[in-house]
Amino acid sequence: MVIFKHIKDLQQYLKSQSHPIGFVPTMGALHAGHISLLGTAKQAGNLTVCSIFVNPTQFNDKEDFEKYPVTIDEDIELLLNAGCDVLFLPSVAEVYPAGFTETRAYDFGYLETILEGAQRPGHFRGVGQVVGRLLEAVQPQYLYMGQKDYQQCMVVKKLLELMELDKAIRLVIGNTVREADGLAMSSRNRRLNDAQRIVASTIYQCLVSIQGKQDASFPVAQQQCLDILTDKGFIPEYVSLADAKTLELLPQYSSGRKMVALIAAKLGPVRLIDNMLLN
Ligand code: AMP
Repeated sequence: MVIFKHIKDLQQYLKSQSHPIGFVPTMGALHAGHISLLGTAKQAGNLTVCSIFVNPTQFNDKEDFEKYPVTIDEDIELLLNAGCDVLFLPSVAEVYPAGFTETRAYDFGYLETILEGAQRPGHFRGVGQVVGRLLEAVQPQYLYMGQKDYQQCMVVKKLLELMELDKAIRLVIGNTVREADGLAMSSRNRRLNDAQRIVASTIYQCLVSIQGKQDASFPVAQQQCLDILTDKGFIPEYVSLADAKTLELLPQYSSGRKMVALIAAKLGPVRLIDNMLLN
């Protein structure tokens, strides 16, 4: 695996390679979810490029940014074992040479106003900034992202359109990798204490219950989930049902549509999100 810190060196190296480039952007503290995206990229015959960059502009919560886990030595070990070809490890100055405010801002419209967009003002603008910049640096043919961040996948799909890269880059969405008890793997799970870790899978159980109650009333299922989460010590932010294609929020189950259930809740200092396709 070759490691680059500078865009110019990375680009010079990538120019000399003949395989298509499969890109997996991450914020590090890698786990099996990240590695599965890399595995999919590798299996497809790509030259795999993983980036690790904790992007300051997508954090609306200062403490979340400051406490975001950084485990670079372990990450490199995992990437070596997974057969990653290139690791891009830029500094903040490399990604934002003109400072945070001077980079291009993309408008994601409706997607910025709901769920993660509503709960984390400015978050998707930051995601757009960093993914845009990384795509310009890596210039991949394939971009691999996880369904775990469902709304982010939709934002990035829109970003590709806004950047007029939707023909040049194919977005491939990987399934959510889970722990044995159903908890979606996440770098932030490392910040849970033992007691919190045990109850953390309640979010997954709630999604399963929403999926299993499609003959009943969604508001009832939603309220049950909110009650269970609160009982177990979470502060729920949303338990929502949406159209899987447009993310239009749905007040009720709708048998004719593909739907997704989405949950965000805080457990102690850690904010967790997860989702499940229903049909
Ligand atoms: P992050 O490092 O959290 O920014 O995530 C980097 C990429 O990995 C994003 O595309 C995430 O959606 C994806 N990802 C995070 N967790 C998982 C998971 N449990 N399963 C699959 N992909 C994931």
